[in-house]
Amino acid sequence: MVRMFLITGVTATALLCGCQTVETTKGGTVGVDREQQMAVSAEEVNAGALKAYAQMMAEAKKKGILDRDPAMVKRVEDITRRLVAQSTAFRPDAAKWPWEVHVITLDQVNAWCMPAGKMAIYTGLIQKLNATDGEIAAVMGHEIAHALREHARERISRQMGTQAAVGIAGALLGIGDLGQSIAGTVAEVTLNLPNSRLHETESDRIGVELAARAGFDPRAAVTLWEKMAKAGDGSQPPKWLSTHPPHQDRINDLRAYSEKVMPLYAAAKSGAAAGK
Ligand SMILES: [Zn+2]
Repeated sequence: MVRMFLITGVTATALLCGCQTVETTKGGTVGVDREQQMAVSAEEVNAGALKAYAQMMAEAKKKGILDRDPAMVKRVEDITRRLVAQSTAFRPDAAKWPWEVHVITLDQVNAWCMPAGKMAIYTGLIQKLNATDGEIAAVMGHEIAHALREHARERISRQMGTQAAVGIAGALLGIGDLGQSIAGTVAEVTLNLPNSRLHETESDRIGVELAARAGFDPRAAVTLWEKMAKAGDGSQPPKWLSTHPPHQDRINDLRAYSEKVMPLYAAAKSGAAAGK
């Protein structure tokens, strides 16, 4: 009887949301291995991301705020290239993703990665936090983890499941006219809506592993968060904190997991030294 109830329950859930259970990533050393329910295809979400990203970068270019400082752009590109190269440890198909990063001249403390690996970091994050390479790697590793885990797709799936309307703020960088399309929804989810604590924890853990594998001290994630918290005391709290809500256990979790991946960092560093 109990079993029958269970089967009925599962079937009902599947029918209700038209869901597909997927494993987006392998667990890695940090052991993130949760199964996810998706009601929308990766193809649809990725197509939306490409469209939103192209439009936002075109808008940024028009406003003269795209990649203005060549030295800063190169620094960010070098860091993200090293992180992206390690993403195959979690999912081999990421090697074929159309990864791209741009530096936006805006005073906001912000960075994000859309589905399919379309990234941006704002000058405000680098300058206001006086971010080290390790701290930039911590932010971007965390963002890349959201993309690898397809958290945006999962969040959109959940919204579809509850029939919740997705409002489009769209004031920033001209995403407004993307309207209620999938591109607008992807942009809204990536740029404006807060991540759940579960998604944040997964990205924190995968992020420190990506950083360590890429040869960045994973403990920089801790100093990054300390700087974020400090910046959050001011009159204009970091935009990044509104989409990545802090929680009490975060620093402890980051400390524990950055220690756990220290051997990967040591191996990456000795590998780099041997290669010289
Ligand atoms: Zn996050």
